Amino acid sequence: MISTISILGSTGSIGTQALDVISKLNIKVIALTAHSNIKLLEQQIRKFNPQLAVVFDEKKAKQLCDNIKDTNTKVLSGMEGLIEAATQEDCDLVLNALVGMVGLKPTLSAIKAKKDVALANKETLVAGGSLVMDAVKRNCVKLYPVDSEHSAIFQCLQGAPDNKSLKKIILTASGGPFFGKTKKELRNVTKAQALNHPNWSMGAKITIDSATMMNKGLEIIEAYWLFNVPVENIDVVIHRESIIHSLIMYNDNSVIAQLGVPDMRIPIQYAITYPNRFKSPVKELDLADVGMMTFAKPDEKTFRCLSACKKALKIGKTAPAIVNGANEAANQLFRDDKITFLQIGELVEKSVENVKIVEPKTLDDVLKADLLAREFVINSINM
Ligand code: NAD
Ligand code: MG
Repeated sequence: MISTISILGSTGSIGTQALDVISKLNIKVIALTAHSNIKLLEQQIRKFNPQLAVVFDEKKAKQLCDNIKDTNTKVLSGMEGLIEAATQEDCDLVLNALVGMVGLKPTLSAIKAKKDVALANKETLVAGGSLVMDAVKRNCVKLYPVDSEHSAIFQCLQGAPDNKSLKKIILTASGGPFFGKTKKELRNVTKAQALNHPNWSMGAKITIDSATMMNKGLEIIEAYWLFNVPVENIDVVIHRESIIHSLIMYNDNSVIAQLGVPDMRIPIQYAITYPNRFKSPVKELDLADVGMMTFAKPDEKTFRCLSACKKALKIGKTAPAIVNGANEAANQLFRDDKITFLQIGELVEKSVENVKIVEPKTLDDVLKADLLAREFVINSINM
């Protein structure tokens, strides 16, 4: 059981839920980081008393420094600060709850500093999968999934005799706010509608990713790297109620599932306390209350991001980094009211056909693919 933790992205949806979990466990917080929300970060600092706080935005970091002069917490900023937070000597586990590619360097730095990592920041495993998994192996550290589906699979796999007996992984997907809609119906959907997720309360980027089903595409690639299962053996099933968080099938066709009310504090806590289990603040599952669970096939023709991610995983190399980078740019443009909902899928799909794909040998190769994909998206809409 760990006794110390650093949380990157502590002011976000995962970050705040992680602090809620930690406040009930006997774990010391070493470092906390935020992009710019210094009001919330200050409250967290005063409650958890970390030795280091990082604000990505330099100006806001200076402001925070002034505001917390009476505490013992040191304040840093920028990527250097994030890396410092990810590599603190007396930290047992780094929880990466950052959103997007900004998390890649901190994840790699933590691993190289021989820290175990609990990873919510799926984008960086999608884009830098081979680099991250190589680093994990070389440095003999553990990478714990936080994503609910991957935590479910990880939990189902406890006690599995070996990886050979695993036949397939079945990822469940809520289908998001637009399940069952046709392309025509999706033409004029608004940001507010896309941000209205039926089951989960999450950060804005992942909520839009759930509406486009990019999130499930990213999760297929995430599962590939975490569990070493080929894309043909990773299925997606729509399960509107979000009670079954994912399933595995063994080679005798026996299926094991993990269930619970949709609340991220269960997977967050399991990643922190693995292999132990503790009392949780999360409500008990009452199956009679749930009443009925339904399942359906995903509509890849309408939700293009899903098929684009599968295609990228089959191609390999920097193709996953390209679809991820294109999506990060398109998702932001949609949130800025610059493109329509359907354009997100079109741009992601086109990115993998148009951006040069290479074998990623270094971090720079991955970062360059990400940049080219973002440029492709910006240039496409300015044409
Ligand atoms: P969020 O937007 O709520 O929080 C993101 C955190 O990262 C915040 O603390 C923010 O200050 C920080 N941050 C954002 N941009 C930054 C930057 N450029 N530099 C430094 N810090 C930055 O996001 P979230 O919903 O908590 O998601 C975090 C990650 O977890 C994502 O990768 C997401 O896909 C994954 N995830 C989230 C959920 C969920 O329920 N929220 C579930 C599964 C997986
Ligand atoms: Mg998920």
